[in-house]
Amino acid sequence: MESTALPDSMPFWTERVYRPGGGQDHLGLGSVVTDRILPRLAPAINVITRHPRYWSFYAFVLSEFWKRDLPRTRAAFRQWYEPLECIFAVACELCDNPEHKASPVGAEKIGTLVANDPAFYDPKFSYVESALGGYGLYYATTMQAVGLVLLPNRSIGLKVDTITPAGQIVAEAFRSMIVDTEYYTEWLDKHDAPVPASVVREYAQRACLCRLHDSDALDRPLLADVVLHQGQSIETASRRETFQMMCELVAQSKGMAIDQEGFRRLIYFGTNARAGDSQRFEFTPTPPTIRAARRWRLYQAREYYNAALNEMWRRLHYWGLGQDGIAIPIPLSKVFESVRFVDFDEFTSSFGVKLPSKGISGLSPIQSLLDWVQEVGQVTGGLDDRWNLDAPLTEDGVIGWLHYGRSVTEASSGYLAAALTLLALVACRLWSRAMALVEPEDWFPVSEGGVERLGIERFLAELRRRADEGQSIADLATWLTRDYVISQHGHVAAAKLLSTGDTYRFRVENDRLRFFDQSASVGMNNPRFESLATFMYELGWSDYFYDHGNSLTIEGELLRVNGDLTVSGLLETFSSEH
Ligand SMILES: [Zn+2]
Repeated sequence: MESTALPDSMPFWTERVYRPGGGQDHLGLGSVVTDRILPRLAPAINVITRHPRYWSFYAFVLSEFWKRDLPRTRAAFRQWYEPLECIFAVACELCDNPEHKASPVGAEKIGTLVANDPAFYDPKFSYVESALGGYGLYYATTMQAVGLVLLPNRSIGLKVDTITPAGQIVAEAFRSMIVDTEYYTEWLDKHDAPVPASVVREYAQRACLCRLHDSDALDRPLLADVVLHQGQSIETASRRETFQMMCELVAQSKGMAIDQEGFRRLIYFGTNARAGDSQRFEFTPTPPTIRAARRWRLYQAREYYNAALNEMWRRLHYWGLGQDGIAIPIPLSKVFESVRFVDFDEFTSSFGVKLPSKGISGLSPIQSLLDWVQEVGQVTGGLDDRWNLDAPLTEDGVIGWLHYGRSVTEASSGYLAAALTLLALVACRLWSRAMALVEPEDWFPVSEGGVERLGIERFLAELRRRADEGQSIADLATWLTRDYVISQHGHVAAAKLLSTGDTYRFRVENDRLRFFDQSASVGMNNPRFESLATFMYELGWSDYFYDHGNSLTIEGELLRVNGDLTVSGLLETFSSEH
């Protein structure tokens, strides 16, 4: 099998920087996706928590803590925890399994350490800045959500993390995998003595994240059970549906590799590549996967919609810098006047798509923009029909033209035209009011965000009204610049002042807009594709998505057909409805 990309080597840039309070997400739209939409599509599976074996390892660490006569305090837990995670991270870096594709928490510092090939490893090496490392940062809350641990809770007198009965079973399985290793028998308690490299290497052969994929890994069926059955029933149902859809994707991929960009296209357009691409395949949701596919499609619609608004924000910022708006704030009237001229000629000639013979400009009615994108975008079909990636104009194409997600400082009016075109494409796809009624429970990516975070549904209602009134594209650009860009950025930056500090890129001062000389990057959220693909592989349901020849295992095929698996059966009594 040829490996095309190792996702662990990619930067985890999106979700980390889009965390609430982060220095990005200047309109507050990314957090709607990461906090409200993606958690409903793939609960407890985040960008960072991508290796299911961490659930067994952390359960093991907690279980060993509670076995010992140690103070039940956070400080004692931390003292116990950190050396174990440190050596575990070293083991994952030393792992010599040819199938190894994983990268542990703390890989940056540990990788440098391991590169020097020392004979011993200090368990107290500082591998990560924050208290309780990867567990504290990322995994604890997801492990609580799937019922493996209980987090400290003063109201019930719980001062330190504790393990649930289900977590205990998972911990026991992990322990049984390493029980014969010298690390477990001789070194687990010796936090002040350097551990010989040979001991860590032996430990790696049993404990590494990648070893979950081994056929004799006892914790694998348990973790599959956790993923499919543990936690709130609405969340487990949602995870099962998403994984069933992932299985269906693999089944229809004819063994072709799938990466994140291909995934976005598959969920939105039903194909991973344009016509003529030798690696192209099509994805048609089956009756059992239609709902998951519909929700993921609407998630991607939200990404395109966010991208259009973020792009208007980015462009305005660089336009203001170009107008010397740092030194002398620009009158708002002049700002609004500037967006009334929208250069569709520049955008379309560069993009390579034809305008209608009458042309389109700021003076044209909104309806003419909608009619044009409907025609050249070949926007037809309902919520569950194939949308045409091969049309002359698509959301995918506009995103590419904008170089969206890269550091663009261009601010010509053609960029404004491209952003409005992108917005119009999404609006046309979702135009019919009846769409919301196809399955109201699947509509949340469109309605989520409401007034405060600029939900699509609210935007559509207002756009329909303005189009009916015969307003112009210039009116549209002015409205969005005022209410969706300047005002929204003001609210979001004000809300971040206490937590993050000053993130203003422009700010209204006495009917003028003052600009600040900072970079202004934008980008889509990570759709958690790598995490889903890693779960699929490490839980033994498929090969690696990035490899050609990827196919389902027998279990994966059962999950595809039945939407569920009977795995260990051991955790059933603990399935919690909290
Ligand atoms: Zn490994």
